[in-house]
Order: sequence, then structure tokens, then C-alpha cells
Amino acid sequence: RVKEKWAATRAKLPPTRLALQHFDATYGVQLGPLWPSVRVAMLSERKYGALLNNFSYDAVQADLQAQGCRDFISNRVEEEEEEEAQPHLEQKSEVEAQESSNDVSMKMFDGQQMNLSPNIKCLVFPRGDVTRFKSARPDTHGLLSYYLMDAASVLPCLALDVQEGHSVLDLCAAPGGKTLSLLQTQTIRFLCVNDMSVSRTRRLRKVLHSYVPKQFLTDENLRVTSFDGTKWGEIETNTFDRVLVDAPCTTDRHSLMEDDNNIFNKIRVGERRRLPQLQLDLLLAGIQAACPGGEILYSTCTLSQNQNQGVVEQAVCLARENHGIHLQAVSLRPLIRMFRNTFHFAPDLHLGEMVIPHLAANFGPIYMCKLKRLS
Ligand code: SAM
Repeated sequence: RVKEKWAATRAKLPPTRLALQHFDATYGVQLGPLWPSVRVAMLSERKYGALLNNFSYDAVQADLQAQGCRDFISNRVEEEEEEEAQPHLEQKSEVEAQESSNDVSMKMFDGQQMNLSPNIKCLVFPRGDVTRFKSARPDTHGLLSYYLMDAASVLPCLALDVQEGHSVLDLCAAPGGKTLSLLQTQTIRFLCVNDMSVSRTRRLRKVLHSYVPKQFLTDENLRVTSFDGTKWGEIETNTFDRVLVDAPCTTDRHSLMEDDNNIFNKIRVGERRRLPQLQLDLLLAGIQAACPGGEILYSTCTLSQNQNQGVVEQAVCLARENHGIHLQAVSLRPLIRMFRNTFHFAPDLHLGEMVIPHLAANFGPIYMCKLKRLS
């Protein structure tokens, strides 16, 4: 009886507190001495970037620059500049990176040039400046001139390295920030955007119509679907030049800040525990959807090793064992060297790269890992 009374009167912890407890337990170990600083940043106001919309008739870049913003992509650190500025910097060589990988088949592949689309522009306020952007207003054609998003979310789109004439699948696309970034390249021959949630797909369509002129949204250019991405292998295999798998995850920042729709809510424990399996199934489907020689970019907005490197490692093994598909991880080191003045990156990840939140550059977390299909 006494126990019953306790159970009825004991204050329940809100999901945000449960998330913090969980992260303290897991990330305290995973990130070690980095965790206290990342924790403070994640509990503070996040920073946004303004992805410029090339389809809009309003030229807002000059206005935003006058407010103190800069395009972090064109203002990247060039290789020689960086060597001069950071002569002491210790980067793992590719060979070391290979050796520290658990699986021999996961050797880092660094043999290709990273081509950054000159058409993707994302403006951010300087380090330490948390000024908020105003909402974008429609131009004379009703199109919005910029889209506000975590600037680190643009990195997976840059890393995907979409080239002229490519066909691209965005498997988990809603609400559409990364889809819009990919469309800015203006090089995609055919883009397939999918999200299993019907309501979120509706939001995605709305975003597309607010940013992209109708003539670019034809059936020949674009397909919007609402399928279960894990079943994509039953629909299409060996098809796309590039596949983005921006998987559902514990959305760490949201889980720490918002009690609504929080995956740490007690009633969602089962859903949360099933996340790594869902992520694995989505990544495997994305791998099968890519054509041989094609590239797959896996990304999340969690710091969790189980949802990041753990998923990629398993997917590479299962793709080989169950489907005879051989993959190689592509090094994203060139990318992080270019953008180290804008973002903080986790040091020494053996597979993929991760933007970690920092008070002076409060973007992320964003994990990304690129795989190339060899067969
Ligand atoms: N890429 C989006 C963007 O940049 O705006 C964010 C994607 S969000 C991280 C993950 C998405 O995966 C959610 O919109 C969710 O509805 C979708 N999703 C969850 N399970 C899915 C499944 N089985 N197949 C396809 N999409 C799924």
C-alpha cells in the first residue's frame, strides 16, 4: 500500500530529463573529457544557417552580409592556408585510419577529389555570435529566399558530391532541408524524395513549392513518395548514382530541449530501442538502391556510436554477406579540414566524421559517413 501511494505521488521525470540522464551515462563514457563542453552547448541556444535559395528572385546575400553573416562554404580554409595556420596539427594519416578500423573491408578510400558544388551557399553569423535570422519573406513570385537550418546539415549534402546528370535518392527526406540543399546544385537529372510519414511528406511538398519554381518540379525531374524506406529493395535496386540516408535517430538536441514528441518519453522506449535496427534496415536499403560505383551517405543528428558507426559497420558486413555488395568507406577528412573554422569536429573517429556542438559554434550534432559501392 505504501508503495502504491509512492508510485502515485512521485514526480515523474519529463522526457528531457530522462534524455539528459541517458546522455550523461552514455556520452560521458563515449566522449570522455569532451562531454561537459558538448553538454553545455547542447543545453544552450543552437545556431542556424541560412541556405540561400538560388531559385528565388530576391538577392538577399548582400543584405545578410551587411548584417555580419558570411557564406561558410566559399569562406572555407584552403589547404595551403591551413598548413600555414596550423603547422602543429596532428591528423591521422590514411594508413593509420585504415589500421584503426575494425574491419579490413572498411579501409578508408581517399583517392578522389572532393568537388564542392559552387551553387550551395549557406550564411552563418561569426563564431560566438548567436544573432537569430529573420524569417525569409516571399519574393514577387512567391518563392522564399532562404531556408533556416542547422548549417552542419548542409555538410552531408556537400559530402554526397552530386555531379551533372546524376540520379539521386533522398530516402528519409522530410521536412526537406537536405533535399533543398541538393536541389541548389542544379546538376541533378532526377531526384527521388521519400519519407514514410505522410504528414511529414505533406510538409516536404509544401517546402518544395515554397522554394522551387513549378517547372523544376515535373515528373521527369522529381518524384515524391511516402514508402517505408526499409522496403526500397523491393521497389528499385542498383539504380541511383547517389543515395542520402538521413536516418531517424534520437535527435539529441530536440530530446534535450522539447518534451513534446520526445523519443525519451516512457511510452516510446520500445521505439527508441528499435532505432539502430531501423537505421540498419534503411542504410541497407539505400546501399541496394545505389548503382555499382554509386555512393551512399549515411547521416544522423545524434552523437550515439550505436546509431552511427555501429550501424555503418553492420550494414557493410550484411551487404557483403547477404547481397554480395562490397563497399568502401570514403574519407571525409578533406571536407572537415576545409570547414574546421566553422564547425567543431569530433577527433579521431575511426569511421565517418561528426560535428559536435560547441558554445562558440553551436551547430550539430551531425554524424556522416560516406560509402562507395564497389560491386
Ligand atoms: N532529411 C530530412 C531533412 O533534412 O529535412 C530530415 C530527416 S529526419 C532526420 C528522418 C526522417 O525519416 C523523418 O522524417 C521520418 O519520418 C523518416 N522515416 C522514419 N522511418 C522511415 C522509414 N521506415 N522509411 C522512410 N522514412 C522514414
